[in-house]
Amino acid sequence: MTYQYDFIAIGGGSGGIASARRAAMHGAKAAVVEFDRLGGTCVNRGCVPKKIMWHAADTAHAIANSSGYGFEVEQKHFDWAGFIERREQYIERLNGIYQSNLEKDSIDILTGRGKLVDAHTVDVDGKQYTAERILLAPGGEPTVPDVPGAELGITSDGFFEMPQLPKKIAVVGAGYIAVELAGVLQTLGSDVTLIIRREHFLREFDEILSSTLTEAMQDSGLKIQNNTEISALSGSAGNIDIETRAGEKLSGFSSLIWAIGRSPLTDGLDLHNAGVNTDSAGYIPTDEWQATNVENIFAIGDVTGRAQLTPVAIAAGRRLSDRLFGGMKDRKLSYENIASVVFSHPPIGSVGLTEAQAREKYADAVKVYRTKFTPMYHAFTPHPQKTAMKLVVEGPDERVVGIHMIGMGVDEMLQGFAVAVKMGARKRDFDDTIAIHPTSSEELVTLT
Ligand code: NDP
Repeated sequence: MTYQYDFIAIGGGSGGIASARRAAMHGAKAAVVEFDRLGGTCVNRGCVPKKIMWHAADTAHAIANSSGYGFEVEQKHFDWAGFIERREQYIERLNGIYQSNLEKDSIDILTGRGKLVDAHTVDVDGKQYTAERILLAPGGEPTVPDVPGAELGITSDGFFEMPQLPKKIAVVGAGYIAVELAGVLQTLGSDVTLIIRREHFLREFDEILSSTLTEAMQDSGLKIQNNTEISALSGSAGNIDIETRAGEKLSGFSSLIWAIGRSPLTDGLDLHNAGVNTDSAGYIPTDEWQATNVENIFAIGDVTGRAQLTPVAIAAGRRLSDRLFGGMKDRKLSYENIASVVFSHPPIGSVGLTEAQAREKYADAVKVYRTKFTPMYHAFTPHPQKTAMKLVVEGPDERVVGIHMIGMGVDEMLQGFAVAVKMGARKRDFDDTIAIHPTSSEELVTLT
């Protein structure tokens, strides 16, 4: 049987594009199906615009702190509209780069919504294409809860379309997105209430991070409303009232962002036509080789429900194509020790096991080293933020199995330390490394 393509990727996000380009590099005839702008969530409505917003907030923070260094600076006005326009222009340039990279690699861009006709046929807005192998990389979308009036709120997608900085906003959720957007908005000048349904946010992370960030957020004036479940929204867009399950009413929000997780974008893919299974939450289960239950169909990225991070999708996609088209039969992604950063204020960096996870796995063989200090920069600022670090080690030779940090600069600090963890570094390797002075990162190699 001959097919039009060796490889069709459904989804022109980070994972689909990376995988198709690697397949083409190995000589495969590949195509990418996308109905929206190229680049997916990360480029258009995720990491990239978010990081630009974070830089803006970081700049506001630096201005507010500059008096400690002798500057007399008054923050008069933040030009939201002009800044957003420049942000969008930047993203359009990235969309163009994605397009030209695909063209350079002779990869066809099939514009439209892709769905499976059978295990080797993809329908794109009524036109059918056949492929020997198909990759499912459609990504996900923000989840909106099923409560009355939920549509009065927006999601992270709507955050990126806000025409102005909201005066008073509620951010609902307890994960990466809630914490990041709440921090950006508060730092830029909104009056922010973070509404979480349990005691703490970022519960999946080490407790040192959540507790230190809670203090920093409260110092910044951000309000945290914990143990609060929302039962309904009422009012109108621009003037939203919140009713809680405990019968409380919180009023007068100009906006509300739902940031309670993301759902896989599998509706409309007609997976059943090829017999591809999904789990109860709609994710596509894959094995360690990114294979679905159908022999020639693979899945990567957010739709698999595993480690929903752009670099993970890219790495999994490239390794898959190396294996399928590059003759590298053992190539696959290890999902262990994936480092990630939460772009909160201050940022968080984390790799490996939390202390709780390590104790569950290694019991009494676990030892923890920690520190909390005011970094030198903040010795002079009117709005100091603490830095906290924790090293989790295991066994008699103290293998480092987790690093958790929050504070200025840890977002850039983590990558190198993640290499050390990946290589199986011991605490003594950290101790043998001469400190770089004066920095915050030296604290990690001088822990006692
Ligand atoms: P997350 O899965 O990180 O967090 C959502 C949290 O919201 C849940 O853990 C839960 O916490 C809480 N929640 C769930 N349902 C409800 C509800 N009905 N009402 C109130 N709270 C609820 O989701 P995000 O949307 O923040 O992010 C999605 C994924 O995107 C992340 O997991 C991450 O992989 C990725 N991402 C990565 C970023 C980065 O690398 N910097 C940035 C942004 C996203 P609890 O149970 O404690 O209430």
